[in-house]
Amino acid sequence: MEKTKNISRRDLLKIMGVGGVALGTAGGLMATKAEAKSNLAPNIAIIGAGLGGISLSAKLIDDLPNAKINLFDADPILYYQPGFTLIAGGIYDKKDTEFQKQDLINEKVNWIKENIDLVNPDDKSLVTTSGKTYSYDYLIIATGTTYKFEEYEGLSEEIINDPQYSNIASIYTVDGSVKAHTMIQELVKNGGKAVFAEPNTPIKCGGANKKVNFLLEDLATSKNMRSKVQMHLYVGGESMLSSPVHAKMIEQFFLERKMPYSMRHLLRKVDKENKIAYFDKLMPYTENGVQKTAIEQVSVPFDYLFVIPKMITSPFIAKAGLAVTSGHVAGNWVDVDKFTLQHKKYPTIFAIGDCAGVPKGKTGASIRKQYPVIAQNILDHLNGKPLSAKFYGYTACPLLTRYGKAVMVEFNYEGVDPSMPCFGATRESWLNWFVKVYLMKAMVMKGMVFAKA
Ligand SMILES: Cc1cc2nc3c(=O)[nH]c(=O)nc-3n(C[C@H](O)[C@H](O)[C@H](O)COP(=O)(O)OP(=O)(O)OC[C@H]3O[C@@H](n4cnc5c(N)ncnc54)[C@H](O)[C@@H]3O)c2cc1C
Repeated sequence: MEKTKNISRRDLLKIMGVGGVALGTAGGLMATKAEAKSNLAPNIAIIGAGLGGISLSAKLIDDLPNAKINLFDADPILYYQPGFTLIAGGIYDKKDTEFQKQDLINEKVNWIKENIDLVNPDDKSLVTTSGKTYSYDYLIIATGTTYKFEEYEGLSEEIINDPQYSNIASIYTVDGSVKAHTMIQELVKNGGKAVFAEPNTPIKCGGANKKVNFLLEDLATSKNMRSKVQMHLYVGGESMLSSPVHAKMIEQFFLERKMPYSMRHLLRKVDKENKIAYFDKLMPYTENGVQKTAIEQVSVPFDYLFVIPKMITSPFIAKAGLAVTSGHVAGNWVDVDKFTLQHKKYPTIFAIGDCAGVPKGKTGASIRKQYPVIAQNILDHLNGKPLSAKFYGYTACPLLTRYGKAVMVEFNYEGVDPSMPCFGATRESWLNWFVKVYLMKAMVMKGMVFAKA
C-alpha cells in the first residue's frame, strides 16, 4: 500500500505501458483469429503437457489446422511454477498456481492421458506406459525436468511434501512451497538458522531459491528480527547464476545485506533427527595435466532447510539415444541445436522448455520465445526449406529482492538482454515487482498457453 502511494507519475506511466503490453497480449490478442500457414497434415506427437507442450500445441493448431496432434501426459494438473516463490513469500496461495490442463489444451489437440515409456526414433514410434504404440512424422519432447531429491541421502520428494517434516522444504514443489511459507513465518517469529542448498546440475529458474532467501532477509529486517535469523546459502556450482553479470550482482546483494553464501558446496546428506546438513566442499585442482576435485566434508547444523533438488530428464530420453552425449551433462537433456531446437541426429525431433539441452533457457519466459521458433522450423522442414527460425537463449527470472522490489534478470546466449528499457538490466524497482506479481501469470496462463503471447 505504502509503495503504491509513493509511486511517481513516471512509474505509473511505465506501469500503464507495461500493463497495456502484457494485458494486450494476454487478453486483446485472444480475440484475433490466427491464420493458417499451411494445409499440410503431418502427424505430430508432443510428449509432455506443461507450459512448453501446451503452448506449442496451440501454435501448431493455428499454423497447421489439418495436422493431427497427439499430446501425451498423464498428469491432469498444470502448476504455474513461477508462482511457487510467491507462495513461499505469502503473496500467492496454492490455488493461485493450480490449473486444469483440460481448460488449457486446445480442443483440436488429441490429449492422450498417458505417459511415454519408450521412443523408437528410427521407426518414428512411441510406446506409452500401458504399452500402446503410436507413430509420428514429427516428435516434440517437452517433458521438463525430473527431480532427484533422493540423491541427497536422507531426503525424498515425499519428505519434502510431508508436513510432518516441518523444517525441510523446497520451493520446487507446490506443497513444498506452502511448507516453506510456514517455515519463513516461524523463522521471523522465533528466530533460528535457515540453510539454503542448491545442486550443481542445471536447474530451472536458477534465481528461485535466492528470491526466497532475499524475502526472508527483508521480512526479518522489517520485523526487527534480523539479528535472530541466521541464514546461509550453499551453492553446488561455481556461480550464482549462468549469466555472469547477474551472478555478480546477486553476490553483491548478498554481501551488502550480510547474507553469507558459499559456492562449490554440494549437499550430500541430511540428518533430519539431529538437524545437520552435510555438504561436499568441492575443491578443483590440476594434477599432471588432469583436472581433479578434492572433497572436504562440511557439516552444517540448521533449524530450517530449503533445498533445490538435483535435476535430470525423463529416462526414456537417454534410453532412446536422444540425450546429450558429451560434457558434464552427458546422458541427460535432449541433444538439440541451441538455435533451431532441432535434434542433432533426428531432424524430425525437436525439444522445447526445460528438457532441451541448450546452455541457457530453463524458464517459462524462454518457452515464450521457443514455441514460435519450433512451429516455424517444422513448417520449413515440411516444405523442404532450411530452418529459418532461431532461439537466441532468452532467459528471464524476475528476481524478487525485497517485498515490493525486483530485478528483471533477462539474458541470452550472448549476455544481458533487457526486453524493455524501463525494466533495467540490474536495477531493483517496484515496477519489476509489479510485473512479476501481477502481470506475468496473466500473460502466461491467459496468453502464452493459447499461443497468443
Ligand atoms: C520455483 C520456481 C520458480 C520459477 N520462476 C520462474 C520465473 O520467475 N520465470 C520464468 O519464466 N520461469 C520460472 N520458472 C521456470 C518455469 O516454471 C519452467 O521453466 C517451465 O514451467 C517449464 O515448462 P516445461 O513445459 O518445460 O516443463 P513442465 O512445465 O515441468 O512440464 C513438463 C510436463 O511433462 C510431463 N512429462 C514428464 N515426463 C513425461 C513422460 N514420460 N511422458 C509424458 N509426459 C511427461 C509432466 O507431467 C509435465 O506436465 C520457475 C520454476 C520454479 C520451479
